[in-house]
Amino acid sequence: MHADIVVLPGDGIGPEIIAAALPVLEAVARRHGHDFAFHEHDIGGIAIDRHGQPLPAATLEAAQKADAVLLGAVGGPKWSDPNAKVRPEQGLLAIRKGMGLFANLRPVRPHAAALGASPIKSELLEGVDIMVVRELTGGIYFGDKTRSDTDATDLCRYTVAEVERVVRRAAELARSRRGHLTSVDKANVLETSRLWRDVAARVMREEFPDVAVEHQLVDSMAMHLLSKPRAYDVIVTENMFGDILTDEASMLAGSLGLLPSASLGAGKAGIYEPIHGSAPDIAGKGIANPYATILSAALLLRHSLGLEQEAAAIEAAVDAALHAQAFTADLAAPGRALSTGQAAQAVIDRLGA
Ligand code: NAD
Repeated sequence: MHADIVVLPGDGIGPEIIAAALPVLEAVARRHGHDFAFHEHDIGGIAIDRHGQPLPAATLEAAQKADAVLLGAVGGPKWSDPNAKVRPEQGLLAIRKGMGLFANLRPVRPHAAALGASPIKSELLEGVDIMVVRELTGGIYFGDKTRSDTDATDLCRYTVAEVERVVRRAAELARSRRGHLTSVDKANVLETSRLWRDVAARVMREEFPDVAVEHQLVDSMAMHLLSKPRAYDVIVTENMFGDILTDEASMLAGSLGLLPSASLGAGKAGIYEPIHGSAPDIAGKGIANPYATILSAALLLRHSLGLEQEAAAIEAAVDAALHAQAFTADLAAPGRALSTGQAAQAVIDRLGA
């Protein structure tokens, strides 16, 4: 198949991890007879420097036309003045909104070879395979805000339609996995959570009778995620709870450098990016872990291009590379670390296996 993929390297280690991931996609294309065209554009700090804004119109237009977007990371000390009018992160929020992406998927599957890197006991982590789906465009982050000398407010608002669409996305994923959905809210206190629970229960009853659903309060979810992570398949939750739970879940996998993400909307298009940031402390050294970006490319093949076999081939190759201790500095024993490019090559070498 032919696919147009917009590539947004961004800042810091962004260009290095993208440069490592593209040859993996090219190798997959060669092996499976596909033709991927990569179109590079600016976002984040580099876009502020070159165009005066974090999301230039040309970048958004290209992203909206593309089959999918692969993104590195944005931000860095050069652009981090909190009083600055334009900031790199605004580019991320604007492109998600501009593409209508409302579901953020974060798979967490700790790899056997990297279990030691997690602060959680290894015996709790074996066999963990969780998909967290976070609502991305509603809730308290986007509600009206007020501020006076003596108080401040943030409005949390959800519509029935917003809850329905993200619950559907999550339930479809659960159906294609182990058939279990956990919907997380704070329905004992928040009205938006009572709406969330009612809508989630109805959607599951009417449209997904074959998927088991469980409703869980966010505070107990925070505990169970660490004490019995194997019990979960797909977890769906609202924006702020998801922001916090996804970072907590990332600790199960040990290194930030191993975790991919996908942001999806109603159609096939999506943005795929590692969950980590631009790591300015190691930028330019060629030592960043490229696996999260390579695994994000696998999600791109699965969710935007429908290439399940090719996605699984990348995931198996990353597994095999980790099994062979092909580690970058964040995971390796002193003196044993591979460079970013060598780690990507270790994946390419195992693609056919
Ligand atoms: P970070 O994720 O960039 O780095 C945290 C720590 O993890 C650092 O020590 C870094 O070296 C390490 N790390 C991250 N990714 C790594 C990788 N692939 N391989 C090896 N080590 C890795 O978070 P931060 O330091 O809080 O933020 C740095 C900048 O990134 C800030 O400007 C922040 O705003 C931005 N940021 C961007 C995104 C994004 O683009 N989606 C997400 C988070 C932070």
